[in-house]
Amino acid sequence: MSMIYHPQKYRIEDKSMQNFIDEEEINEILQKNENPSRERVREVIERSLKKNRLSLEETAVLINANDPELIQEIKNAAKELKERVYGKRIVLFAPLYIGNLCVNNCTYCGFRNDNKDQKRTTLTEQDLKDQVKALEDNGHKRLILVYGEHPKYNAKFIADSVRTVYSVKHKNGEIRRVNINAAPLDVEGFKTVKEAGIGTYQIFQETYHKETYLKVHKSGVKRDYDWRISGLDRAMEGGIDDLGIGALLGLYDWRFEVMGLLRHVNHFEAVYNVGPHTISFPRLQMASGVNADKKWMVSDEDFTKLVAILRLAVPYTGLILTAREPAAIRDEVLQYGVSQIDGGTNIELGGYTSIEEQQDLDQEQFEICDDRSLNEVMEELVSNGYIPSFCTACYRLDRTGEHFMEFSVPGFIKRFCQPNAMLTLAEYLEDYAPEETKKKGYDLIEKELANYEDERFKEKLVDRLEKIKEGQRDLYF
Ligand code: SAM
Ligand code: SF4
Repeated sequence: MSMIYHPQKYRIEDKSMQNFIDEEEINEILQKNENPSRERVREVIERSLKKNRLSLEETAVLINANDPELIQEIKNAAKELKERVYGKRIVLFAPLYIGNLCVNNCTYCGFRNDNKDQKRTTLTEQDLKDQVKALEDNGHKRLILVYGEHPKYNAKFIADSVRTVYSVKHKNGEIRRVNINAAPLDVEGFKTVKEAGIGTYQIFQETYHKETYLKVHKSGVKRDYDWRISGLDRAMEGGIDDLGIGALLGLYDWRFEVMGLLRHVNHFEAVYNVGPHTISFPRLQMASGVNADKKWMVSDEDFTKLVAILRLAVPYTGLILTAREPAAIRDEVLQYGVSQIDGGTNIELGGYTSIEEQQDLDQEQFEICDDRSLNEVMEELVSNGYIPSFCTACYRLDRTGEHFMEFSVPGFIKRFCQPNAMLTLAEYLEDYAPEETKKKGYDLIEKELANYEDERFKEKLVDRLEKIKEGQRDLYF
């Protein structure tokens, strides 16, 4: 079914979109499923362990499970499902802020237009190249470019910056996948950006609750809830089918937001037959001049629970966690289903080449809580038995819907994802890792190789690993 837009107002006329987020319906489902019995919660957990996608009703049952024993069972199930479905891979990326000019007044963001303390900068082409070089020198292969919303950051500007990033090759370094987090465009704009070869286009709805949305988005284009929520539909229409959704937790009740995210996934599946690639669920952080209302702040306990619920509800959608979270929380939710994290993050404009150690909030969007270097993150992942992956094979071989494949094609992970993760890890170990990490990394690869019973496949994999040691790069299945 194709979507029809009103050319001037950009209002959605397609029937399937009209009640797309129905607040009354969401509240009713949440209320109806209050105080679920232990049997009902366990029944839902069982269904998700059989790799079923959960309905809104079933998700509400898990959301309303408040008994600590049941919450633990939800977390254990998420852990089991994650291991069974995804194995031990964790994809790594870095955010790169391109410019902080912004016409909007999002009350929670340091970049908001009326924040006169914010130092405004847009990276020049040369600045951008320098940042990319520095990121490549750390070992990154996947970036997400982040932009404020401003007429200067139009589709052409975004497409040009993507091309610039791909053009930078330094020593053995190259960026193989560029994702985008930028304000929604019109269909033509999305086509322009698609041509530059982007990976995922990410736009967060921030809050699915309209009244709250209007309260926190004081002015600017972003104040238009409908324009925002229909953004990813326009992206689809513009040919981008690799999309990321998200909610900023702390603006409204997390229970409602999780249901909103799920409803958004359902919408994609119903209309386009394919869900979003990723879901992000950042928690609100301190930002320059921001006095956040604490009412809806999400506790660590609720946060870890909601990540486990998302894993069970949408087993084949990637879950992204960022450096907004402290290392301890990241380590915990990695077990429950997070599949991508950033490493060595610096969100200051030009920050990857600057020598400042302290965060300056007047040059940044918000405070980050995990300032470990990429290598520290790599080392910790490897020590905990995770295989850090910089793999970009599916995207480059046009195997879209990679998470769906991982989930649904028997043996896909073992024959593609896991070996590719090992190959990109080997590249990292050869080119960027200190001796100690290198040793730990190769020990982990050896251990993983032992799990391969198919001798012919194992030979092929070992052969490629050897080629990487000899200096070849970018080998994948
Ligand atoms: N300007 C574009 C937009 O708003 O969609 C894209 C970039 S914006 C810098 C990226 C995301 O940062 C926002 O969607 C929002 O969820 C998140 N963000 C803003 N302020 C934040 C804060 N104080 N703490 C955590 N995340 C925040
Ligand atoms: Fe601008 Fe995005 Fe920040 Fe809102 S969240 S003020 S749109 S940069």
